[in-house]
Order: sequence, then structure tokens, then C-alpha cells
Amino acid sequence: MNDFKNLLMKDCDEHTRQQLKKAILEKYFFVSADTIGKSILEREIECFRIGNSDKEILFCGGVHGSEWITSQLLYLFIIRIADTIINCKSQLTEILLSCFQKYSLIFIPCVNPDGVEISLHGSQSAKHLENFVRRVAKGDTVHWKSNALGVDINHNFNADWQNIKKKEMDSGITFPSMTRYGGEFPESEPETRTLTEYCRTHHILSAIAFHAQGEEIYWSFSEKTPVRSLEIAQKMAELSGYALSFPESIADGGGFKDWLIVEKGIPAFTVEVGKGENPLDIAQLPEIYARLEKMLFYFLSVG
Ligand SMILES: [Zn+2]
Repeated sequence: MNDFKNLLMKDCDEHTRQQLKKAILEKYFFVSADTIGKSILEREIECFRIGNSDKEILFCGGVHGSEWITSQLLYLFIIRIADTIINCKSQLTEILLSCFQKYSLIFIPCVNPDGVEISLHGSQSAKHLENFVRRVAKGDTVHWKSNALGVDINHNFNADWQNIKKKEMDSGITFPSMTRYGGEFPESEPETRTLTEYCRTHHILSAIAFHAQGEEIYWSFSEKTPVRSLEIAQKMAELSGYALSFPESIADGGGFKDWLIVEKGIPAFTVEVGKGENPLDIAQLPEIYARLEKMLFYFLSVG
């Protein structure tokens, strides 16, 4: 981590992500990066790959703007994996060698770059949507979770979307909002479609979407949840000390994990990292990662 410490321990805005990408690609020849989509405001959604197999394990972060610490968590995870490959003397190296014989690792550190920028730098970072964001945020952009059009990406996936839409309406969320507004129809947003199109065209075996906060692991959605998901989640909980949870009612459906379970039938998890109020202090990053590392490498070992 030392080479990257200055970049990892700061706000994960667009500029920092560009610097991290450059530094990672320069240091590790076996890591590649692609742009797989663009946000409402044309910010690039980047995808990092390690491995050559067409079978993939997927990790996502930065789905919610104010949870940008999850992007830094994924960059740190990429760096730790890459260092483990180079150093070749850690007990984790064996896990990785076996992993890369079977599948590749895919990281999408920042699914919602506009939301992150709004949370970090305010409504002016929403370009031509500045006035709209200012009206919706009412002076509180720091807690912004949605994309730049006020759609919560994790309510916009086609997984029992009508159900979550009804729950939103019952809660009075009928317009674009900083959080929990699921859009006019499923996959209405480019950020959502970036993930669904990627997953439809790739052979994803399993996935974790990182959110903040709560130290919880969500593992199920409907009767389509794969049988082995519970066993994997239990082990993840044991290794991290995080709790196994079921979503509160408003969070029931519309999420990326939910969609992966319904559409792809694969083990998919939401991990809520850290404790406190979002945005979490970046100073928490080393501690959050240290607590999760065993769980993450276990996840690599089960595929
Ligand atoms: Zn979240």
C-alpha cells in the first residue's frame, strides 16, 4: 500500500481515480483497464481486470455517491492482489494462483462517478444539471447518493422493481431525490445499463457490491437465491465479523445484487462496510480493509 498511500487516503474524486489508474497500470503490467460506460454527465465508468479467463468474479463500488470510500476499498484490494502476485511469498499467493487458473477478477470501483463528484464537490460538479441538483439537495450535497438525475442506481435494476417502486411511493418518494428514487422504469439510467450490459455479455460467476455503512452482508433475494449463497455468506460473516442481514422493507428489490440473483442465478452479495455516518472518514480505510481481507481472499477461493 505504501506506494499508493497518498492517493488511497484522500477523497476518491475523478482526479484521484485518474491518478490511481495511471499509477496502478504503470506498476502492474498484468492489470488492465477499460472504459465500459459513461455516466449521465459523460464521466467514464472504469473496469479493471486481472487474469485471462473468460469466467469472471466481479467486484463493484461507488454505487452510491456518499459511499465513495468503497471505491478506495476496491483500489486497495486491486493493489493488495497485485502486490501478492509480485511478491510471491505470501500464503495468499496460493489462493491467487489457483484462482487465476479458473477465473479472472473484475473490478468496477466507481459505478456512479457523478454521484461521487456531487457528494465530494457539490452541485457545481453536476455541470448543466447544477441547478437541478441544487434544488433536489437543498444544500446537503455531501449526503447525495443518487446519480446526477436524482435516480438511486441501486433502486433501478429490474428485480421486483414494481414492488420497490410501490414502497418508494408509500414513503413519499415520487420524484428524483438524493436517495431511494428508482427512476421511471428499470434500467432507465446509463450507470445501471453499464452494469447490466457488462453482465449480460460476460460470464460472471459471482459478485460483491460494496456499500457503506453498517458492517452487514446481504446475501438473499427471493426464492432464486442459489443454495450455496447462504454457506458462502456465513463464512464471509465469520471471517469479517460482519452480520448476516436481510434488507429493511424499502431496500427490498431493485438492487444490483437482487438483479444478479434473479437474472443470472449466481451468488451475489451486498457488503455494507464500516460503521458511522456516510461519507465515512477515509481514515477508516486501512482498518476496514484489514478486517475484510480474509473474507475477500476467501471469496476469491470459492469463485
Ligand atoms: Zn449504498
